[in-house]
Amino acid sequence: MALQTVLLAEPRGFCAGVDMAIKALAWMVRIFEPPVYCFHEIVHNQLVVDRFERLGVRFVDDISEVPPGAPIMLSAHGSAPEVVDAAYARQRVVVDAVCPLVTKVHHEARRRAEQGYEIVYVGHAGHDEAVGTLAVAPESMHLVESESDLPALFSDIGDDAPVALLTQTTLSTDEWDGVLRRTQSQYPQLWTAGRSDLCFATTNRQAAVRAIAPRCDAIIVIGSANSSNTLALAHVAAEAGCPMVQRVNGADEIDMDALHSASVVGVTAGASAPEDVVQAVVERLNPVVGVERVRVTEEDEYFPPPRGLRELMPLVEILSAFSVGGDPRAARSGGSFTDDRNVDTALTLGALSARSVGQS
Ligand code: SF4
Repeated sequence: MALQTVLLAEPRGFCAGVDMAIKALAWMVRIFEPPVYCFHEIVHNQLVVDRFERLGVRFVDDISEVPPGAPIMLSAHGSAPEVVDAAYARQRVVVDAVCPLVTKVHHEARRRAEQGYEIVYVGHAGHDEAVGTLAVAPESMHLVESESDLPALFSDIGDDAPVALLTQTTLSTDEWDGVLRRTQSQYPQLWTAGRSDLCFATTNRQAAVRAIAPRCDAIIVIGSANSSNTLALAHVAAEAGCPMVQRVNGADEIDMDALHSASVVGVTAGASAPEDVVQAVVERLNPVVGVERVRVTEEDEYFPPPRGLRELMPLVEILSAFSVGGDPRAARSGGSFTDDRNVDTALTLGALSARSVGQS
């Protein structure tokens, strides 16, 4: 049977934090001679990383690999305080593209630690966001990856100190709910954020998948294997009753044979997966009846460029106008940098992808 319908989950793909980080790095590669350095992958998506590498960005996992004075960007996942300090100590231009919602969790970790709390942090060991957040208050924070880690932790923490619960922003709501319930029952005075630390982009994309899952014979989740929110989407799709879930980096990875009896296939994308990949996936699925968009909520959040880039703004406006062929006078009086909110990240990425190092 030919595949009849694709259900396209909305929202999906790039979130406000990823938009901000990609646009900021795009400015860096247009303004500075290569190489521009980036601490950790700017976002967890191999296609995005590959595109920036072709533009002369070098991704490093240690600040000491960056030549002193070279421009550097710190990734959207947030960096450990010692990494941020080392970057500012060594480099002339530092742009920290940490998502403000990750910064909020760092701030809470610091605050609760200063107040004497033991902090239970729910996250994935080794994930960039978890590594950065745990480093904010290493003496007070305890990583748990699942409910099964809790009994041993409760016995370590004991009953004397106040306890707070924080989380990585991109977990599935199921992972979070279980740990929350159990920790609350152990510590009735538990402090946790009024609304969980799971960010709006995470919960919105999961709600959209939950909405389509019962109608789908299969769901394609687009995103990289190291993207926490992508894996959470796949988990939610399966938990919500979809009998088959395929996580793919791109259209060429879809197992079409496995879809031979599927009539309705859902499509979603993690917060760092580009929209052109979504369109390529839909084209490959080639539904007979067509595409139905299923929108669960509007998302109009916007994060302005990172402070380090805003401080460069006068220089950025003039240099960028020359480097992208615009009129510097127009740029000074309200060019594209000041219109950042309306700049389409996917288009920016696509336009840059057409270039490589050495081209303008
Ligand atoms: S997924 Fe959430 S926390 Fe992560 S960059 Fe996007 S908005 Fe920020």
